[in-house]
Amino acid sequence: MAGTLFVVATPIGNMDDISARAVSVLQSVDLIAAEDTRHSGRLMSHFQITTPLVAYHDHGSEAQGERIFSALDAGQDVALISDAGTPLVSDPGYRLVRNARERAYKVIPLPGACAVITALSAAGLPSDRFCFEGFLPAKQSQRRKALESLASETRTLIFYEAPHRIVATVEDLIDLFGAEREVTLARELTKTYETLLNGNLTELLVQIKGDVNQQKGEMVLVVRGFDGVQQGAQEQEEERVLKLLLVDLPVKQAAGLAAKICGAQRNALYKKALILKDISG
Ligand code: SAM
Repeated sequence: MAGTLFVVATPIGNMDDISARAVSVLQSVDLIAAEDTRHSGRLMSHFQITTPLVAYHDHGSEAQGERIFSALDAGQDVALISDAGTPLVSDPGYRLVRNARERAYKVIPLPGACAVITALSAAGLPSDRFCFEGFLPAKQSQRRKALESLASETRTLIFYEAPHRIVATVEDLIDLFGAEREVTLARELTKTYETLLNGNLTELLVQIKGDVNQQKGEMVLVVRGFDGVQQGAQEQEEERVLKLLLVDLPVKQAAGLAAKICGAQRNALYKKALILKDISG
C-alpha cells in the first residue's frame, strides 16, 4: 500500500506553537520534505526529530519530486514542511500536493501556525470575509497596478510584505486607497519583538518612518476593505479642495496639489479637475 503525504504546519517564530500531533508525525514518518533542510535542521534538533530530510521546492528538479513519490510508492510516509508556518501559503508545496492528489495518494493536512491567520486574529479589522493577496509585486509599477485593481475590494485585504519595501508599499496604499483607510501592521508575530500597529495609513506611515525598528523583521499588512461611505466622503473632500485650488491655479497644478493634500491619485484628480473646469465654464 502506498504511503501517505502529510502536510505539516510548523511555527512562525515561537517553537512552542507546534502541535503535539505535528511533532509525533514528524518523528514517525520515513522522510521529511523540507523547503530548506539546513533551516529545518534547527526545528528537528529542538524536538529531537531524527527523520531524514530531503529538499523540496516547487521549482526544483523533477528528481526532487520523484524521490518523494518513490518513497510513497514504496509504502513510506512523507511529511512536507516549509521554513515556517503552513506549507503552500506563500511557500512551496502546491505542485507536490497537486501531483499527489492527481496520482491518488492520500494527503493529510496538519493545521498550525500561519502568519496571515495569526495577524487577522489580532488586527481588529473585519474578519468575517477577507482576501489574502500574498506578496505584492516588488516592482513599483506592477505593485501599483495590483493595488489599483484592489482599491474597491470590500473584504479585508491581507498582504505579506518584505521589510525593505514596507514604506514604499504604505505610500502606494495611501495614493491608491486614500490616506484614511484603516490598517494594522503585524510584525514579528509570536517573537520577542512582536508589534501590532493600528491606525489609518497616514498614521502608520508616520510611525514606521519615525522608528526604523518598525521597518524590520517579518510583517503582515491587514487593510480594511473598501467602504463606499468612507470613499464618498473622500470624493467630496477631493472635489472641495479641487474647486478651491482651481480658482487660482491651472488644471494640472491644481490636480497635483489636490492629490498631495487628499492622498489621492493625480491622474484621477486631473480628470476630475477638467470636468469641474468645464462645468464652471
Ligand atoms: N507559510 C508561511 C505562513 O504560513 O504564514 C508564510 C511564508 S512566507 C515565505 C514568509 C512571509 O510570511 C514573511 O515575509 C511575512 O510576510 C510573513 N510572516 C511569516 N512569519 C511571520 C511572523 N512571525 N510575523 C509576521 N509575519 C510573518
